[in-house]
Amino acid sequence: MIPLRIVVLGLSLSSSWGNGHATTYRALLRAFAARGHEVLFLERDTPWYAAHRDLPEPDFCRLAFYRDLDDLDRFRDVIAAADAVILGSYVPDGVAAGTRVRSWTGGVCAFYDIDTPVTLAKLASGDHEYLAPEQIPTYDLYLSFTGGPTLGRIEEHYGSPAARQLYCSVDPEAYPALDRTKRWDLSYLGTYSPDRQPTLTRLLIEPARRAPNLRFAVAGPQYPRDLDWPANVERIEHVPPSGHPDFYAASRYTLNVTRADMIRAGYSPSVRLFEAASCATPILSDRWDGLETVLAPASEILPVDAAADVLGILNGQPESERIGIARAARASVLARHSAAHRAGELEAHLREAAARKGTSTDIRDVQDRWPAKDLLKGAAREKSSMTRDKASRVLVAGGAGFIGSHLIDALLAGGARVTCLDNLETGRHANLDHLRKEPRFDFIEADLVDPLPKLPRFDRIFNLACPASPPHYQADPIHTMMTSVIGTHRLLELTRDADARFLQASTSEVYGDPEIHPQKECYWGNVNPTGPRACYDEGKRAAETLVFDFERVHGTDIRVARIFNTYGARMRADDGRVVSNVICQALSGTDITIYGDGSQTRSFCYVSDLVEGLMRLMGAEASPGGPVNLGNPSEITVEELVEHVVRLTGTASRLVTRPLPVDDPRRRRPDIARAKALLGWSPKIGLEAGLEAAIAWFSKEITPPPSVRSRRLESDVLAAG
Ligand code: NAD
Repeated sequence: MIPLRIVVLGLSLSSSWGNGHATTYRALLRAFAARGHEVLFLERDTPWYAAHRDLPEPDFCRLAFYRDLDDLDRFRDVIAAADAVILGSYVPDGVAAGTRVRSWTGGVCAFYDIDTPVTLAKLASGDHEYLAPEQIPTYDLYLSFTGGPTLGRIEEHYGSPAARQLYCSVDPEAYPALDRTKRWDLSYLGTYSPDRQPTLTRLLIEPARRAPNLRFAVAGPQYPRDLDWPANVERIEHVPPSGHPDFYAASRYTLNVTRADMIRAGYSPSVRLFEAASCATPILSDRWDGLETVLAPASEILPVDAAADVLGILNGQPESERIGIARAARASVLARHSAAHRAGELEAHLREAAARKGTSTDIRDVQDRWPAKDLLKGAAREKSSMTRDKASRVLVAGGAGFIGSHLIDALLAGGARVTCLDNLETGRHANLDHLRKEPRFDFIEADLVDPLPKLPRFDRIFNLACPASPPHYQADPIHTMMTSVIGTHRLLELTRDADARFLQASTSEVYGDPEIHPQKECYWGNVNPTGPRACYDEGKRAAETLVFDFERVHGTDIRVARIFNTYGARMRADDGRVVSNVICQALSGTDITIYGDGSQTRSFCYVSDLVEGLMRLMGAEASPGGPVNLGNPSEITVEELVEHVVRLTGTASRLVTRPLPVDDPRRRRPDIARAKALLGWSPKIGLEAGLEAAIAWFSKEITPPPSVRSRRLESDVLAAG
């Protein structure tokens, strides 16, 4: 994957005061940069935002200010060399800025509309504050905060070559679910807007008047001084983004109020909606078309029309239902609306537009055309340029498995053609079902131990083929060992003959039961070569030997990732690994098994973080010269893991203990200093957010027991009634 270099001209990144744009850009661009891309954000230096800057120096991108349109000329070369330039809505003098930028750029030029219905209403009334209708066909891509039928209108009526939905999103790490004393029954967070005020009056101020015993809060700037607030409504002028999770957590419910234009257009979720859901505060919302495509009414969000509906919920909803809605909304948002999801969509839209335009980011040599050194200073920028990768034809052996299928998604999003080779021993077609119609993907069912079928020439070969969980790799230990030795050898020969690059998925198991802690790559390990785990541990060690011998003997371009415990969606419920075991037992209400006394430690890495590490390792221009640990260094005991899962699932399962399996390692924690230094990589997803996403996945995978099913039915009936 070739990382992209993009320039964004937006209303503000530095200040979240009085605008929702900054929060949107921060979440999206942080996640976009985490995928290895470089971003320069250009912000007009205006007095209001200058006086209220709460992020003057972002650590995920370079932020520069320009005084006026003429001052924008300073960035002409950077814009000309960028893969894409994105101009946002409400940029001051946006029409003139857009025309200038359009004439300079050689890459994709996109308009990012964070206010689509407002923009279209303005255009209809002849108001061209930041976009003129004749500009729309000249933007290669129109990214819209509003989805649904509006996209067709932008293409058909205004002549956009491609209008694509790019909703706002949330960074789950920045918006965690906190446990706080409840100060208010209902809160609202939002800047004053005359068109939202009638709804705020109907759904918060009026209920406050009618129920003086309940407490309310309205936070946000620019409300007129003469507004008559009831005594039980607390006014807060500004809550910085860092304070949003506390604000939401201090409220039993929060209110989502949508701008009138957005209600008319439908399919326009607000960023506050996702933030509140991520913070696990139950949301009361006004109604609009497409709401049900974002969160499920009744079970994940509570649509309300009048003060009486609001009071009915505040006074009458059982606490268990309130908590259930909050949890379900959080899981849904984490599974589909995180900033990481959105950054992936943005990348795919930009690459699609580049391909359409004939400036494919796979073939352009931007290395020397981006005068980044002087503008994008800092170690992080330097490092990410090492992740540049022009590969277009990729083989993923073991791609139908848990990690491999996520890797394939990331490679395809990056524009590669991908072939998956897998014997389906532990992998599943279901993991790749969504790619059935993808023209850049194909699947070959084959066993690496057997002679390989005729294959095309690849630029990059990932070897993830090998069952990874003890029950599976011990089921046929000889085949496991052969997969690692013969299979790796076959793929290395293929790599050498094609002059390609090879990445071996090795494992923390090469350290065995480690005597040093945390484990650095220079540690040689403590492995029992004759025990029941040896087929895997020693197989992987032998594979590493082969890989480094190919480097020494043939000069093959190789990389070795030592992967530590990874978890997430698409794990098999029956694979016997601790995270899947505990979650599935908790969800099905059966006894949760703890092996040993539960004091053994593990470090769990969420799969999207791991995939990002694999992509960076493969993308690094220079070979790292030795293996690289990839894993999450935050270490917890198995007992603590169980406590988290029990709390998050609310299970009534009993805990039972069983003897520790033979050769089970006592402690495991990666030292990731090398990955940080060489790849600029470290995991981003915390355990809480990762577990919630994994729980949401397994909840759909396994059938709950009758007791849990009947509880669900009961709550469905209550919610419907
Ligand atoms: P997985 O079992 O889900 O995936 C392995 C894939 O390899 C499966 O699709 C399987 O069908 C395929 N495969 C196995 N033997 C094969 C053969 N002989 N020929 C062709 N295909 C074969 O496991 P995973 O968790 O996705 O792990 C992927 C890789 O990462 C493995 O090599 C594993 O050793 C390594 N790893 C995983 C973890 C983890 O926590 N998941 C930790 C360390 C290392």
